[in-house]
Amino acid sequence: MNNPPVTPADIKHAIRNVPDFPKPGIQFKDITPVLADARLFAGSIDLLTQNFAPGSVDAVIGIDARGFIFAAAAALKLNAGFIPIRKKGKLPYKTHEQDYDLEYGQATVAMHVDALKPGARVLLIDDLLATGGTAAAAIALMKKLHANILGVSFLIELKFLDGRKKLKGHPIRSIVDY
Ligand code: AMP
Repeated sequence: MNNPPVTPADIKHAIRNVPDFPKPGIQFKDITPVLADARLFAGSIDLLTQNFAPGSVDAVIGIDARGFIFAAAAALKLNAGFIPIRKKGKLPYKTHEQDYDLEYGQATVAMHVDALKPGARVLLIDDLLATGGTAAAAIALMKKLHANILGVSFLIELKFLDGRKKLKGHPIRSIVDY
């Protein structure tokens, strides 16, 4: 008999809440138990890609580092390429860079200048939407390369931080929210 399909509730049940990591006051959403369970990992990819038919997306773009895990698996499922957006200084070739604000200070993400052809149909995936700064910076990089952004998907959304307001104009999806 086939296993029943994985539900968002199954995934939420497996996510481990780690208080005060990496610093006091932050409740870290640990997705490693989801990854360690073959059924939940596959189910999370099914849920993240369910609005897209194989071949309908040219590339899935993942954000350093946990986003890579979900985006790479989704790319295989959608018969699409995988493109990394990395923290500054990690990509070897020429890059576009985008600064964004963190709670304290700034960070910079980068993408290879030739990662996408103009008009490429792309799906952006990250593990978690918090304030939206990281995803907004990733979208700015994709726009520099004139990507056709078909969707932006997250396994987890922290709704109380209202990160969606920074991502207006794009179809946003999340599987599990808090
Ligand atoms: P933000 O730019 O505020 O939307 O933060 C999103 C990025 O930070 C994602 O790439 C997440 O991996 C990470 N992140 C932020 N808050 C958390 C959290 N509470 N638990 C796990 N990861 C987080």
